[in-house]
Amino acid sequence: MENEQPVHGSHEWLQQEIAPHLKRYEIACQCGCGFAELTPTMLEKWYQLRTGYGSPIHISSGCRCKARNDATPGASATSLHVLGDALDVWVDIHFERLYAVALEVFADSAVGFYPAHPPERLHNRLHVDNRPRYVRWTNYWNGNT
Ligand SMILES: [Zn+2]
Ligand SMILES: [Zn+2]
Repeated sequence: MENEQPVHGSHEWLQQEIAPHLKRYEIACQCGCGFAELTPTMLEKWYQLRTGYGSPIHISSGCRCKARNDATPGASATSLHVLGDALDVWVDIHFERLYAVALEVFADSAVGFYPAHPPERLHNRLHVDNRPRYVRWTNYWNGNT
């Protein structure tokens, strides 16, 4: 059974657990193109983030194909979402804890803070990615979403 790979794009494929507490549909490109692969580094960082935070984490954006990224307001043309190496995340409770853990897990890479922006956005959100340098931003209009 373990050797049976579900068909790409199938219900079973989308329901696959690709890391602890992470099913493939949660990171799939929202245009429906079937791009839904995170880098090994991001899978490992997800695990550290999820474990450190200790409660469910929602993903508002994971993988984005080029077309989807181009159509995303505020997205950088070089966004690592296009490589499956970035996540946008939010939580129901204890956002400060998530933020603190993210700053540790992505200590040598990128963490961007997007404050809740009512009425269109109900939750604070973080962008994290694995670019090989230290970057922090807290300015919603900075792009890189
Ligand atoms: Zn797509
Ligand atoms: Zn992002």
